[in-house]
Amino acid sequence: MPRDEFSLINEYFAHRSAKRGDVAMGIGDDGAVVRPIPEHDLVIVTDTLVEGVHFDKTTPPRSVGHKSVAVNLSDLAAMGAQPCWVSLALTLPQIDEDWLKEFSSGLDEICSYYDCQLIGGDTTKGPLTITITAHGQLPEGTAIPRSGAKAGDWIYVSGSLGDAGLGLQVTQDKVSTTGRHLQQVIERLHYPTPRVALGQSLRGVASSCIDVSDGLLADLGHLMKEAGAAAQLELEKLPLSLALTETLNVDDALALALTAGDDYELCFTLPEEHRGRMETLTSHLKTRPVCIGRVANGGHGDIQLRYHGDEWSLADGYQSFNHFSHSDMSQEES
Ligand SMILES: [Mg+2]
Repeated sequence: MPRDEFSLINEYFAHRSAKRGDVAMGIGDDGAVVRPIPEHDLVIVTDTLVEGVHFDKTTPPRSVGHKSVAVNLSDLAAMGAQPCWVSLALTLPQIDEDWLKEFSSGLDEICSYYDCQLIGGDTTKGPLTITITAHGQLPEGTAIPRSGAKAGDWIYVSGSLGDAGLGLQVTQDKVSTTGRHLQQVIERLHYPTPRVALGQSLRGVASSCIDVSDGLLADLGHLMKEAGAAAQLELEKLPLSLALTETLNVDDALALALTAGDDYELCFTLPEEHRGRMETLTSHLKTRPVCIGRVANGGHGDIQLRYHGDEWSLADGYQSFNHFSHSDMSQEES
C-alpha cells in the first residue's frame, strides 16, 4: 500500500504516543534519533504477533495493539530494563480504518502508561502481522540474565498463572465460567500487564529471570537449563485466581497454571541472602511475588512437582505452547 502509507502512519500513529525529551528525531525521518542516558546499557527486544497464530479474527483490535506492546515490555521487564522507545512494523491485508483506529488506541494507551514513545515503523501489505521492537535502558552491567540461578536459590512468580489460558479456553468455547470470572480471564488474555516495575526492582537482587509467555514449566525450564540445575516446585504454593479454582478441578487448574502461556508474569530465582531485600523492594507493588519452590543441584532443566508433599505429574494431553506444533514458522520466542 505505498500511496497511502504515509498518510496512514501520520493519521494513526505519529501524533498519538507519549512524547519523551530524549527523542531528538522520531516518526517522519528516515531513522529515529534517541539520546540514551550516559553509563546505561540499551536492552532491545522484538516480538511478532501473527493473525491465526497468536490471535484470531475475533480478537478485539484494541487488544492486539495493547498486547503487541505488552509482550515486548514484558521481555524488557524480565531483563530489568525501563522501557523507553518502540518501533512498529505493521503488515495489513487491506486498509481497514475502523481496525486501525482501535489498534492504534490500544497501542497508544499502553505506550502512554509506561512513558514509551513510538519512534518509527513501516507499513506493508500482506497477512496481518505486527512486529514491535522495544528499547529499554538500565544502569551499565545490571541486566538480569537467564543463566544465573544457583542451587539453593528460591523460585518466585510475580502473580497468578493460568488465567490467560483459561480465557483462551473460554473464547474457544471449551470451558464456560460465571460472569464475574469471565471478564477477568478474558481481560488477562487480551490485556496482559507487563511487570515493568517489578523487573526493575529485581536488578542486583534476582539471580535469573524470565517472563512466562509459553507456560511456567517451559519458561522455568529455560532458566534451569541455562543454569545446569533442577527445580523443585511445591504446587500448593502456586498463586491461582478464584476464577481458575472455581472453574476447574484442582488437577486441571494446576495443569493450566503450569502449561498455559500468555500470563506474562515474571518467574525469577533469588539467593537466600536477597530475600529480605526483595520483600522490601516489592512491598509497594499491588501484586507481591510468591515463592513456589527451590533450585536444586544437577539436572538440566528438570522440574520436580510436588503437591502437599506428594509427587504430582501432568495428565496426558497437557503440553506447553510450542510454536513448532502450531505452525511451520521457525521462530524462537525470546
Ligand atoms: Mg520472554
